Amino acid sequence: MSKMKFGTKVLHAGIKPDPTTGAIMTPIFQTSTYVQEAPGKHKGFEYARTQNPTRTVLEENLAALENAKFGRCFSSGMGATDAVVKLLEPGDEVICTNDLYGGTYRLFTAIYQRYGIHFKFVDLNDLSAVASAINNKTKMIWVESPTNPMMSIIDIAEMVKIAKKYRIWVCVDNTFATPYLQNPIDLGADIVVHSVTKYISGHSDVIMGAVITNDHILDQKIGYIQNAAGAIPSPHDCFLVLRGIKTLHVRMDRHCENGKLIAHFLKNHPAVQSVYWPGFEDHQNHAVAKKQMRQFGGMLSFTLKNDSQEVAFELMRKLELFSLAESLGGVESLIGHPASMTHASIPKEERLKSGLTDSLIRLSVGIEDVEDLIADLRQAIG
Ligand SMILES: *Cc1c(COP(=O)(O)O)cnc(C)c1O
Repeated sequence: MSKMKFGTKVLHAGIKPDPTTGAIMTPIFQTSTYVQEAPGKHKGFEYARTQNPTRTVLEENLAALENAKFGRCFSSGMGATDAVVKLLEPGDEVICTNDLYGGTYRLFTAIYQRYGIHFKFVDLNDLSAVASAINNKTKMIWVESPTNPMMSIIDIAEMVKIAKKYRIWVCVDNTFATPYLQNPIDLGADIVVHSVTKYISGHSDVIMGAVITNDHILDQKIGYIQNAAGAIPSPHDCFLVLRGIKTLHVRMDRHCENGKLIAHFLKNHPAVQSVYWPGFEDHQNHAVAKKQMRQFGGMLSFTLKNDSQEVAFELMRKLELFSLAESLGGVESLIGHPASMTHASIPKEERLKSGLTDSLIRLSVGIEDVEDLIADLRQAIG
């Protein structure tokens, strides 16, 4: 069964009944070490920082979902990103999306810049700007698509084309799209990073990350870094994610459908100024989204005609079904105010340049009954 389809892979790829008991669910191997028959004679497991059977099953499953050979799970999405940056040497340069996830921006600029790794923030939609930012120190292009919170779409195949010419890596943070909607490895990317915390886990109860690649040498290096630095997830969290992953395709279909209906509701509402959702034909990157994504996701942002923070706060206060919280991708709907939450550290002039105004509200549309969600938005917008 090498050509399983997605909805089969989430249930079966890498997953076998436990050979000792027949348990259909992968056991939680809550152990720190493994008994050896004789010195060096073991069953492939020596110490649980290096390997854990629950984790191995999840890693094989995740790799299969991205149509890749190798996967490594980390204690968080940031732990996964951190391991990828550790592939680099002082003096190396990275070109990245200018509206990067805030935590990634902080790791790059506040931590790794001090170790002599340089990050250039470029509008990755401007291909000539990308090409002219590359020099002989550039080692990697770091892509996020869709971006947060403006839902820009970056053409991954175009990034790969440029990167191949200069023999540099492309790493894609595929958290927003998930492997159900987008597979960067199929588009030629070298590395995929996930915050498993979000859609893949899907139930707002786990923090986890993953690094996925088809390149044996890269995978070996990531594994070496992981074992050396130790940012591993617990076996219990691996179990929870294996449980969540079984419904990834079903959840994503509903997230996408609800997202589409809410995007259209908001677009037709007289109090709404703009709606940022890549499924709209007039979205600036709609053609690219259509080319590289299977559906357009359940994340969207909108602004109000009355562009004030007070009005946005009042709207969010009135909502009953959308919870005010950071994070995204869980089964329940969340709402956030980027200007005062995730993007509060970015100077106002900077954020206004990309359209991130005071009334911009971000929705992570859950899988509730969409009529209830729309009714809630209708009463809150007024
Ligand atoms: C949440 C998130 C991360 C960080 O993941 P954690 O699991 O919170 O460490 C990285 N990238 C994106 C796009 C995210 O949304």
